[in-house]
Amino acid sequence: MIKKLNQVVYRTKRQPNYSFALLLIDIDRFKIINDSLGYAVGDLFLRAIARRLEKCLHGKGTVVRLWGDEFAILLEHISDISVACHIAQLIHQKLCLPFYLNGQEVLTTASTGIVMGIGDQLSSSNNQAEDLLRNADIAMHRAKAQGGARYEVFDTAMYLHFQTLSQLENDLRRAIINNEFQVYYQPIVFLETHKIVGFEALVRWIHPQRGLLLPAEFLKLAEDTGLLIFIDWWVLRSACFHMRQLQEEFPTYPPLTLSVNFSSKQFTQPNLVEKIQQILQETGIKAHNLRLEMTESAMIKDSEAVSATFAQLKALGINLYIDDFGTGYSSLSYLHRFPIDTIKIDRSFMNSNNSHTEKLAIVRAIVTLAHTLNMDVIAEGVETVEQLSQMTEMQCEYGQGYLFSKPVNSHAMKALIAAQLPC
Ligand code: C2E
Ligand code: CA
Ligand code: CA
Repeated sequence: MIKKLNQVVYRTKRQPNYSFALLLIDIDRFKIINDSLGYAVGDLFLRAIARRLEKCLHGKGTVVRLWGDEFAILLEHISDISVACHIAQLIHQKLCLPFYLNGQEVLTTASTGIVMGIGDQLSSSNNQAEDLLRNADIAMHRAKAQGGARYEVFDTAMYLHFQTLSQLENDLRRAIINNEFQVYYQPIVFLETHKIVGFEALVRWIHPQRGLLLPAEFLKLAEDTGLLIFIDWWVLRSACFHMRQLQEEFPTYPPLTLSVNFSSKQFTQPNLVEKIQQILQETGIKAHNLRLEMTESAMIKDSEAVSATFAQLKALGINLYIDDFGTGYSSLSYLHRFPIDTIKIDRSFMNSNNSHTEKLAIVRAIVTLAHTLNMDVIAEGVETVEQLSQMTEMQCEYGQGYLFSKPVNSHAMKALIAAQLPC
C-alpha cells in the first residue's frame, strides 16, 4: 500500500488538479469476535470483510489489508470529500449486514478515518505516504473514541490534538522514570468532634515546564495508556511511607486512616493482594488503617473476579470505600453484593445551590440507605458551614472538603496534625 500510495502522491503533486482519498477501516471490537470464534474463524471473517469491501468499490478503488483487522482503501480521481464520505457510509451499511461463517451469524461495525490527498496541499515531507496513513489513523481513532460505527474526516485540529496527547504521553512516561509525581493529602474529619481521623492521598504531577498539574489534566491519558497502574502503585507506596513518618512523629495521636484511590483496572491486576501486603509490610502500615477508594465502574467491570479480590482484601482488614457515589450507575444491588464499608457522597451534591431541596432529599436518602446497610458516610466537597451543619444534622459521620483543608503536601499534613494536638 505504501508503494502504491507513493505513486499516487507523486502523480498528484505533478498534476495539481488531481486528488485522491485514503480510507483506513478498523473493525470495532474485533478482538472479542476473534477470541470468541477462535483464530481460524477470525481469519475467515477478515477475508469475508475484504471481499465485501472489494464488492462495495466495484473496481473503483484499491483495498489492502494492512495488518490485523485494519484495511486501507485508496480511492483515486476523487475531487470532493463528500464522495469519499458517501463511499465510507456505503461501506458501513454493507459491513453491518450479517456474515455467515461456519454456520454462525456474525455481526460487526467498523470505524473509518478519511484523509484527502490534494495536489498543492500535500506536505513537502519525504514520507508523504506514511503521513497520510498516520493522518487517516488519527481520524480512525477519533471515530473509535466517538463510540465506533462511524467515519471521521481528518483535519488539522485533529493533528494538533494528537500531537498534544503524544507529547503528554511522552512526558508522562518520562515522569514515571524521573519520579515527577507528588502525593498531596486531604484530611477526613469526624463531624461530631471536628477531629482529623485520616487523609486521602491525591496524586499531583510536578511537570518540569508546566508546574503542578492536577489529576484532571493527565489521569484519563494515564488510564488509556495503562500508565495509571504504575502511578497508583507509586501513590500507595509513597502515601504509606508518609503515613508511617506521621505516626512516628505523633505517636500519641489516635491511629490515622489512609485512603488511596485505585482505578478500576487496578482491581483486576494479578497478585494485587500480595503486592498490597508487601507494601504494608515494607512501610509498617497496618491493613486495618488502609482504605481503598474505587468508583462504581470497578464493581461493574468484572464482578466475579473483583468480588474474589474484595473478599481477600477484607480478610486482610482493609476497608473498601465507594467514591463519587451518586454520579455513576448507583446500582443498589452491588451495595449488598460487595463488602463495602463506606460511601463517599460525590461533591456535586454539596456544591452549587445546596439549598436545593431535591439534592438534599437525595443526600438524606443515601445517608439513610448507607446506615441501614451498616455503612458509614463521608460527605465530599464540604465548603461551607451551612453544608457542614446540614451533613451533621443528617448524621453523616465524616466530611472532607475545603472548609477543613485543601489537599496539602506531606509537610503541611504534619502541620495539620500538630495543630490538632492540645498545646
Ligand atoms: P476524588 O477521589 O473524588 O478526590 C477528591 C477531589 O475533590 C480532589 O480533586 C480534591 O482536591 C477535590 N476536593 C476536595 N474537597 C473539595 C471541595 O471542598 N471543593 C472542591 N471544589 N473540590 C474539592 P483532585 O485532587 O483534583 O483529584 C481529582 C480526582 O482524581 C480524584 O477525585 C480521584 O478520582 C482522582 N485521583 C486523584 N489521585 C489519584 C490517584 O492517585 N489514583 C487514582 N486512580 N485516581 C486519583
Ligand atoms: Ca477518592
Ligand atoms: Ca470522590
